[in-house]
Amino acid sequence: MRRSIVAGNWKMNKTIPDGVELAGALSDGAGEFIDSCDVVLCPPFTAVKAVADRILGSEIDVGAQDVHWESSGAFTGEVSCEMLVDAGCSWVIIGHSERRAMFGETDDAVNKKMKAAISAGLKPVICVGETLAQREEGSASEVVRRQVKGAFAGVSGEDASKAVVAYEPVWAIGTGRASTGEDANAMARMIRDTLAELYSHDVSEAVRIQYGGSVKPGNMAEFAQQPEIDGALVGGASLKADDFIGIIRAMIDSKK
Ligand code: PEP
Repeated sequence: MRRSIVAGNWKMNKTIPDGVELAGALSDGAGEFIDSCDVVLCPPFTAVKAVADRILGSEIDVGAQDVHWESSGAFTGEVSCEMLVDAGCSWVIIGHSERRAMFGETDDAVNKKMKAAISAGLKPVICVGETLAQREEGSASEVVRRQVKGAFAGVSGEDASKAVVAYEPVWAIGTGRASTGEDANAMARMIRDTLAELYSHDVSEAVRIQYGGSVKPGNMAEFAQQPEIDGALVGGASLKADDFIGIIRAMIDSKK
């Protein structure tokens, strides 16, 4: 049985004091019951170290929202995997649709970031998902398959097993219009089938797949009850301690 994983993507929100306060409220409020679920907070770069220090020794991990694939050098504005590890991260989100759409992130860049993350000891959360136009024209599966193949190109089966894939339909992110559990499960199944083709049945069964897109405490169970869905990547609702704790609780209760 795959271990559940709920991650909070804070995006460009929270100052250092606000982030430390939220992380503290989460580690105090979620501490006792989360040992059956991985919980990851992904603050903006500026708050990563302070958040990691605040929750040190708790069950909660820290991740970043992006990374560069080079270790160091003349890459103004970028942050390396080694720097993230140094700041207390054990996870990194790669290929979020906002980065793909607004910052020109390609499948090739996602692949380089994934390889760099794994070799630095960071666990990657690889985001994939189709736009509304792609869904409406019937190419959602093809688009997501291509993104998965691009991200995992040249990655060994052993390394692939450590990755998490977040299926996040772009039309569901931040819109309040979540996918249905059934549709998200079908896409997660298709992602697993793609991984089985690339690697093996065992690798495809080891990779954890999250759903992301307007997840709230009230709809988490619908996704968590699906056999192919192992967790959630949460944006807006991860910014409030009560909501995020409610989501983690629904995730855990649904998989019992
Ligand atoms: C996200 O940004 O990854 C996300 C899923 O956002 P939201 O939960 O706000 O839709």
